[in-house]
Amino acid sequence: MDKHSPTPRIDVKTFAKTHALVSEQTPLGQFGRLSQDCVGEVLGEVAWSVQGSMQASASGGQSAWLHMKASAVVPLTCQRCLSLVDVPLSIDQDFRFVADEATALAEDDASAEDLLVISHDFDVLELVEDELLMALPIVPMHESCESEHAQTLADDADNVGDDKPHPFAALAALRTRKD
Ligand SMILES: [Zn+2]
Repeated sequence: MDKHSPTPRIDVKTFAKTHALVSEQTPLGQFGRLSQDCVGEVLGEVAWSVQGSMQASASGGQSAWLHMKASAVVPLTCQRCLSLVDVPLSIDQDFRFVADEATALAEDDASAEDLLVISHDFDVLELVEDELLMALPIVPMHESCESEHAQTLADDADNVGDDKPHPFAALAALRTRKD
C-alpha cells in the first residue's frame, strides 16, 4: 500500500479472525480534521498499526477485537507564549466490536476497552484520526516556555561557526573600533 492509496477499509470480522496486522506511515497532512488544528506547514507522519484478534466474550461467544497503536508529533500553538509547540501524541487502545449501537451503549460503562459497531467496511484511518483528536491537549503548552526559548537561542548560537564571529560580537567590535 503506498502513501497515495485510498483510505484502508477492512472487513472487521475477517480481519479479526485472521489476526491480521496492518502497519503504516501516513502523512499527517492526509488527516484533514487533525491538520485543521495544526499550525504552519503540516509535515511529518503518523505511524500507526492495527492488529485484529478474536477473544472470548462474557456471553460465551467470540468477539472481534482491534488493538490500535498510533504515534505522531503535531505542531500546535502554545497557549502561553503563542509560538509553535510540537506535541507528541501516542495511542495504545483496545477496541471490541459489537453487533449494534444499542449494545455498544449498553455495555460501554462496564468495559475498559472502547466499543465499536462491527462493519464490513470499516475505515481504519478515521479511527486513528478520531483517537489522535481525542488525545490532543485541550490547552497545548510548552513545559516551560522560557527554557524552550533559551534552547532556541542556544541552537541559533550553535549554528554560528567558530571562524565566524557572532553577529552581536561583530557589532560590538565595530562599535569599539568607532570609539
Ligand atoms: Zn510556550
